[in-house]
Amino acid sequence: MARIFNFSAGPSMLPVETLQEAAEKLVEFDNTGMSLIEMSHRGKTYESVHNETISLVRELLAVPNNYHILLLQGGATLQFGMVPLAFLRQGTTASYILTGSWAKKAHDDAKIVGTTSVIWDGKADNYTRIPAQSELNIPSDAAYVHICSNETIGGIQWATFPDTGGVPLIADMSSDILSRPLPWDKIDMVYAGTQKNLAPAGMALVIMSDRLAKAARTDLPAYLRYDLHIQNNSLYNTPPSFVVWMTGLTLKWVKSIGGLQEIERRRDEKARMLYGMIDCSGGFYRNPVDKESRSMMNVVWRLPSEELEEKFIKEAKQEGLDGLKGHRSVGGCRASIYNAMPLAGVKALVQFMKHFMAKNG
Ligand code: PMP
Repeated sequence: MARIFNFSAGPSMLPVETLQEAAEKLVEFDNTGMSLIEMSHRGKTYESVHNETISLVRELLAVPNNYHILLLQGGATLQFGMVPLAFLRQGTTASYILTGSWAKKAHDDAKIVGTTSVIWDGKADNYTRIPAQSELNIPSDAAYVHICSNETIGGIQWATFPDTGGVPLIADMSSDILSRPLPWDKIDMVYAGTQKNLAPAGMALVIMSDRLAKAARTDLPAYLRYDLHIQNNSLYNTPPSFVVWMTGLTLKWVKSIGGLQEIERRRDEKARMLYGMIDCSGGFYRNPVDKESRSMMNVVWRLPSEELEEKFIKEAKQEGLDGLKGHRSVGGCRASIYNAMPLAGVKALVQFMKHFMAKNG
């Protein structure tokens, strides 16, 4: 087996244990004579996989009992629209904090649905930093405050969640879900596309407080109704059973290595190593992000010229280090070091960066 180090931003590397277990059981699942993805989602076998995934989310993220866990289709992008459709009623305003491309996309959808107010916009600094609490003026009557906890493209991350003074905080955690414990006393809802830290693409994990759920509109087409998904334990319609299963396998892997504590320890070690390399390169590699706001999941950097960046990406690929091209909207380089990226991958990347600098610096 020749698996390379895949630094792609998503879909991205999954734990090899997740892939192997899925491969072993793909054709016949637990003596049922069929694959899990061929069987009815109304049967006992699927139901137990479904419920196990949900209970592992609850356990690993320490989700309180008064929060609902939903497994929905449409990725994170559908949540950009579902959130305002459910919670941004006429006569109310939703507060958005713009930290980069993904927060802006969420806001673009909300603007179509209702009235929004941008309470902080990082545009002046080219989206290289997260605001301090003191810069946030959150209206106490806002329908909700929306943030993107980790900007996958810009490589910036909220190190701590803002205090919204009781206004429901909703966070797009697509690229840092399951990489950190969550302060539930500050958060009413998180959502995340599964294709980075959890599973293949095709699903969003949504976690929502009961007080927020109670405020959701019910006069919407069925799939857009959180209340229906909650009442039906995410089985209102046919669930993305393959992705639900794979999510459960990844969660089991996280549990087997020691849970979020170990995930955090590995995350810090990998990020420290990579940012350390950038910082000691005498400006050959440049990370544009404010140090306090650096992402622990998506590390971005520039080289002295675009030609060198192209050469870097090409030669790295030849060394088995793939997916290092920055997002097409910003260029440069980016290494996504999600939970499944082993330390050995980051070590190999840092080694390559040293050699490349010695030859081209
Ligand atoms: N939010 C963030 C932070 C993302 O990184 C992405 C995808 N890269 C999305 C939302 C969109 O997710 P999806 O493709 O699952 O709709």
